[in-house]
Amino acid sequence: MRGRYAPSPTGPLHLGNIRTALVCWLLARLQGGEVFLRFDDLDTPRNKPGSVAQIQADLNWLGLDFHPEVYFQSHHLSDYQTALDQLFEKNLVYPCRCSRKEILLLASAPDNRFPPGRYPGTCRPTDKRFLVGESEQLAWRFKLDNRPQQFNDCIEGAQSENPWESGGDFVVQRKDGFFAYQLATVVDDNNLEITDVVRGVDLIDSTARQLALYQSLQISPPTFWHLPLMLNSQGEKLAKRDGANGLQFYRERGANAEDIVGLLAASLNLVEDRSILSARELLDTITFENLKTALQGFSANNSEHCE
Ligand code: GLU
Repeated sequence: MRGRYAPSPTGPLHLGNIRTALVCWLLARLQGGEVFLRFDDLDTPRNKPGSVAQIQADLNWLGLDFHPEVYFQSHHLSDYQTALDQLFEKNLVYPCRCSRKEILLLASAPDNRFPPGRYPGTCRPTDKRFLVGESEQLAWRFKLDNRPQQFNDCIEGAQSENPWESGGDFVVQRKDGFFAYQLATVVDDNNLEITDVVRGVDLIDSTARQLALYQSLQISPPTFWHLPLMLNSQGEKLAKRDGANGLQFYRERGANAEDIVGLLAASLNLVEDRSILSARELLDTITFENLKTALQGFSANNSEHCE
């Protein structure tokens, strides 16, 4: 197994992010595999100064070690451009001039049968030709086929989604030139030869789009593990932008790494409540099967899971 933990350096990790990192690390270590740390730092205006160092320090403090080669998406822009060029050669992308506002307006038309915000295909060319002005700043969209994508998530079981219906043709390069997450993550997971993608279930609806890209770029996709989200006491998902507490908050109140690992492991039903143990001790306490069964216990879907 080759896994990766891929935080965006947009602020300190909250407990939910850390739980994802812990599971990612455990899955790799329990299978004698490798796990990479990848910083999803493409959306530079959202990056927070000091965040990379803070995240590395937090993971280190928790006792989670990663492959020495730390991967930064911002160092791989030419790889995304190469992938975009390949899609262009295959006539699978087209330039788009629509603003977000225009798309929402179109979606609110009374005869629209699609979800709000779905791209209605306004700029999708009917043949191969499209005109691009020399100095024009355009987004590039990926042309989806109208068909469902199916996969067996290791936690969430059998999934089927038609991304053409749910979101329509999606952006692979934004108007401001930034490569979009969907394209970058496929390129990077392939570069790093990732076999198992472990991330929060809030990203499960990106997977169908990513599978469409894998097929178009003729790369075989990894296995997916979409983890349950950690909720706050109001039952809402923890979010950095809502100011969910980072480790600093718990450290200042006297918590040490063993308290945090114990808390997170107990929240996944891996150990008894109020257990205090290090990441290494947790690794020695559980098996791959224990972890898989505990994670699958969070899913309401009893269909076939990945092998
Ligand atoms: N960068 C994303 C996040 O911080 C994760 C992306 C992924 O794992 O594919 O939520």
